[in-house]
Amino acid sequence: MNSKLPNVGTTIFTVMSKMASDYGAINLSQGFPNFPIDSQLIELLQQKTKENIHQYTPMAGLPILLEQIAIKIKERYNRVVLPETELLVTAGATQAIFTTVQALVHPGDEVLLLDPCYDCYESPVILAGGKPIHVPLNEHYAPDWERIEGVMSEKTRVIISNNPHNPSGSMWSKEDWLKLEQLLNKFPRLLHISDEVYEYIAFENEHISAHSTALLRERSIIVSSFGKTFHITGWKIGYMVAPSHLMTEIKKVHQFLVFCVNSVAQHTLAAYLEKTDLMDLSGFYKQKRDLFKSGMEKSRFTLLPCQGTYFQLASYERISQENDVEFTKFLVTEHGVAAIPVSVFNDSHLDRKHIRFCFAKTDETLTAATEILCRI
Ligand code: PMP
Ligand code: GLN
Repeated sequence: MNSKLPNVGTTIFTVMSKMASDYGAINLSQGFPNFPIDSQLIELLQQKTKENIHQYTPMAGLPILLEQIAIKIKERYNRVVLPETELLVTAGATQAIFTTVQALVHPGDEVLLLDPCYDCYESPVILAGGKPIHVPLNEHYAPDWERIEGVMSEKTRVIISNNPHNPSGSMWSKEDWLKLEQLLNKFPRLLHISDEVYEYIAFENEHISAHSTALLRERSIIVSSFGKTFHITGWKIGYMVAPSHLMTEIKKVHQFLVFCVNSVAQHTLAAYLEKTDLMDLSGFYKQKRDLFKSGMEKSRFTLLPCQGTYFQLASYERISQENDVEFTKFLVTEHGVAAIPVSVFNDSHLDRKHIRFCFAKTDETLTAATEILCRI
């Protein structure tokens, strides 16, 4: 078989979650919450399923949902988004990114990925005939603008950023965003895909979005996920915002990839968005981050700064010199806690002895996990 994606295997998330289940381990690997979702959301879902809402919705999304999303973006970022031409409801951020890349990347175009990067960026680029160019983040998991600029040329079509960042929990500073703006000015063909699925999970500093300046708005496709924001990763629903001339092209691909997204989820979320306050999320996850952190104080792991997302990186250098893939296997099989090795997010497989724990878990789960981790 002449594979189009010869280097793609089963994702680390699937591998580690399966190991967690096989070994009866506490699963802090794949990023998903293990606590119940808001009961109001369940009630709305039950109510909506009884209504006559089970057929196709308009291709780009249910108008009442698009309107609610536009209201949230106005409230949060003070940006006026035109629901009809600048918004698209997608089957999660994964589909949003895939669709965007297929629509905008031509054979031979280069796409800049900042490593460690989330696993759904590279394959769409390869399938579009583009060339992924991996540039490592620096030792603080921040962009190295000199190296980034060093690989840029007229061929660079897209740079993909992710703020707050999975797996590191880092966030770009104001200066980083200014650097990106300088590059956008210097390279007129360059577009920016801004993966902001953790936009509502930022702790000490406020999340800076590509919604924030006129230049970024003109050149960015901004991706959001209801999965992260409402603890409903299994619903697979999200949305994206792009300038209308780009969105026209993106919708052409969307039309033949999914046509439209699950109607029941769209109706339910339209009603829920009207009633809910998204700003509570950071406080909710900050408590979990801090609980995990204090539970780990007596351990031999060293925790790295976590500014956002629901992931905490930890160095195990004081425990073992094994590579991170082997160490996470040891952790799950011998100690019953599953985590994610960070090297798999690096094209070069660079191993800094950092592993990722997901703290989107009940306090009981976090406490049980940290008790075990402190004994290692
Ligand atoms: N981007 C990042 C950074 C992620 O962590 C994830 C995983 N949830 C996604 C995109 C995919 O999101 P979705 O489940 O909405 O497709
Ligand atoms: N985003 C999740 C994570 O980083 C994984 C989602 C998936 O398994 N596709 O853990």
